[in-house]
Amino acid sequence: MQFRDLKAQYQALRPEIDSAIQTVLDHSEFILGKPVAELEERLAAYVGRKYCVSCANGTDALQLSLMAMNIGKGDVVFTSDFTYFASAGAASLLGATVILVDIDRRTFNICPKALERAVQRVLAEGQLIPKVIIPVDLFGLPADYSNIIPIAETYGLKVLEDGAQGFGGNVNGRSACSFGDISATSFFPAKPLGCYGDGGAIFVDDHQLAERLRSLRAQGKSSADKYDNREIGINSRLDTIQAAILLPKLRAFIEYELSAVNQAAQWYTERLKNTVATPYIPDGFYSSWAQYTIMLEDDRTRDRVREALKEHGIPSMIYYPRGIHQQEAYQAMCFSDEWYPNTIQATKTVLSLPIHPYLKEEDADRICKVIIDNV
Ligand SMILES: *Cc1c(COP(=O)(O)O)cnc(C)c1O
Repeated sequence: MQFRDLKAQYQALRPEIDSAIQTVLDHSEFILGKPVAELEERLAAYVGRKYCVSCANGTDALQLSLMAMNIGKGDVVFTSDFTYFASAGAASLLGATVILVDIDRRTFNICPKALERAVQRVLAEGQLIPKVIIPVDLFGLPADYSNIIPIAETYGLKVLEDGAQGFGGNVNGRSACSFGDISATSFFPAKPLGCYGDGGAIFVDDHQLAERLRSLRAQGKSSADKYDNREIGINSRLDTIQAAILLPKLRAFIEYELSAVNQAAQWYTERLKNTVATPYIPDGFYSSWAQYTIMLEDDRTRDRVREALKEHGIPSMIYYPRGIHQQEAYQAMCFSDEWYPNTIQATKTVLSLPIHPYLKEEDADRICKVIIDNV
């Protein structure tokens, strides 16, 4: 059994994907060919944003967004402590100070109350300037924007949505990657919408911001002349082949994969809800299920369940085994475990189960039986 069955998806879409790749080879426009612009248009329309600027990966999407927000030394960027490293790393790389914030213990997303306290603390210290909040749509569930955006407005901060795992989710019909000033996503193969290598995209509504991002992804070139550089940028483009692969995959994602993965999540929840803590989806929220993550009693129970699953040939993963504040790269910041009780609790109890649109009900049955027999 696969944790995320990319082969089953390829088999389902094989004729379209193969011919899309072949067409790129025949035209040989490997960089910024037609499929790139077409994909950007479709992505923007799907998430309900005016502009999409594709790039080389989700980490670059975050970094380019922060560059377009002019973030650097002396600025503070707030993000969740319980996320993939890039949510924090992209800001640190630009010289900003990252302040990590504890999560809500039920949604695993950044806790708005803890966030506001962190902003107030930075302001009271008066050394650094709070600039950006990076909420993460963890495991496919959009962050609590209705409580985060008012905090950003109160303190004059920008919001950068890390939608790397959130693509396809929504809150009362408003799509992930449409929240905040800028949204970033990733097309890493295992994300809700993945390509066959690295890929990413940025979403904005402001024309000038979109133009700046297009420049920044091409060494800061001016729009008129490729060899006239108006600022320092990076080289970060989505390959034409990846865009061509994403076009049929986006269509399948919209037509049936997103509902199929929600069906798979429902099979799990029906079978497990009386035995373990199943994912909490607040009213009005819709997840794209980048992960289906349960919580066990404690780390010993988790080890036991994981071992039993492994004996039955069922893969499972721990997302994440440590908070960002516990990463060696952030030791100099002296973050204390005591500030992150919910992250710490999550790192000891979470377990992510195989989930993808091609999971069968009998797979869910088998997986749930092993869990129920071993908790
Ligand atoms: C995957 C991921 C990223 C980075 O995306 P890449 O395409 O791997 O660079 C950033 N943030 C989160 C939350 C992610 O899960």
